[in-house]
Amino acid sequence: MDKDFNIQNLIRENVKGLSPYSSARDEYVSDGSQMVFLDANENPFENGVNRYPDPQQRGLKSVLAEQKGITAENILLGNGSDEVLDLIFRTFCEPKIDNIISLPPTYGMYQVLAGINTVENREVLLTEDFQPDVEAILERVDEHSKLLFLCSPNNPTGNVFSEERIVRLLNAFEGLVVIDEAYIDFAESESWVSRLGEFPNLVITQTLSKAYGMAGIRLGICIASKEIIAAVNKIKPPYNVNELTQQKALNRVLDLASVKNEVTNILNERERLLKVLREVSFVEKIYASDANFVLAKVDDANKRYKQLLEEGVVVRNRTTQPLCENTLRFTVGTPDENKKLIEVLNKLT
Ligand code: PMP
Repeated sequence: MDKDFNIQNLIRENVKGLSPYSSARDEYVSDGSQMVFLDANENPFENGVNRYPDPQQRGLKSVLAEQKGITAENILLGNGSDEVLDLIFRTFCEPKIDNIISLPPTYGMYQVLAGINTVENREVLLTEDFQPDVEAILERVDEHSKLLFLCSPNNPTGNVFSEERIVRLLNAFEGLVVIDEAYIDFAESESWVSRLGEFPNLVITQTLSKAYGMAGIRLGICIASKEIIAAVNKIKPPYNVNELTQQKALNRVLDLASVKNEVTNILNERERLLKVLREVSFVEKIYASDANFVLAKVDDANKRYKQLLEEGVVVRNRTTQPLCENTLRFTVGTPDENKKLIEVLNKLT
């Protein structure tokens, strides 16, 4: 990475001059104090949600910052990490001019967001063992390559990308490297958050939708340098994380012990599922997983997908994805759900 990396050079031209929308609740948050709030045209009668939520989510951010060993200024929260990813696109990418790099087979939203934002998506296939092909990536890069998406653990393959390859990309890529850590809490390897200080172009996204069991409340996390977060904050809708989400998320992150318990349970169940899959006659290959799902190659994915469906089990058919011909992706469920899956697999064998 260039020593004189300057985030200002990466920001989309029209965003450079913007200031964040200043909302009524930026400075004073209704907190049960004696203050009288006549500033935001709300209905004054208390019902728990009659006030606008804190646009800066101060309570939640301060707990997250402490847990992750960073400051609140290194964090931006969104309506799921999908919103966070969209905000990153719109802060940095000039429509019709800039491009992003993504590494299929991977999470489908990078492609969708590139399409929505009229940004070219340059796809560079992962290697056969599902690792980033560093040389091929650097060959596709030009001065308009703003974002490189590394999904680690990767969806749908389940593996973590090699640290050495990620470091090479962080050093060589002159745009932002976005490491999508949606599944990091299931992985043996550490989050890249602890390396934030080493790489000015590192952006990490996380979510409460997976290990934290809160997909329904929509809470996504973006972690990066203060400068990058300040840039994305310029375009963030003021009240993008609603009051109920902030409350639920805060309660959940304060109860890390039960999150850890559930993760342990899911990892044990993943091992049980792996054992069974190894015995299933139509399963040809099982890929190692650092996530809460398992990708398996079968004899005929379309046929097996349909059979499972007929038996009342919905899995994800990934056969049309590059390098994923005839694969099915199995999310690890509760012990009862996995029992049902295992019964059906044994029946079909
Ligand atoms: N990144 C990856 C890799 C995912 O698999 C998903 C959800 N399937 C997301 C991000 C989106 O998560 P969220 O619910 O936080 O929008």
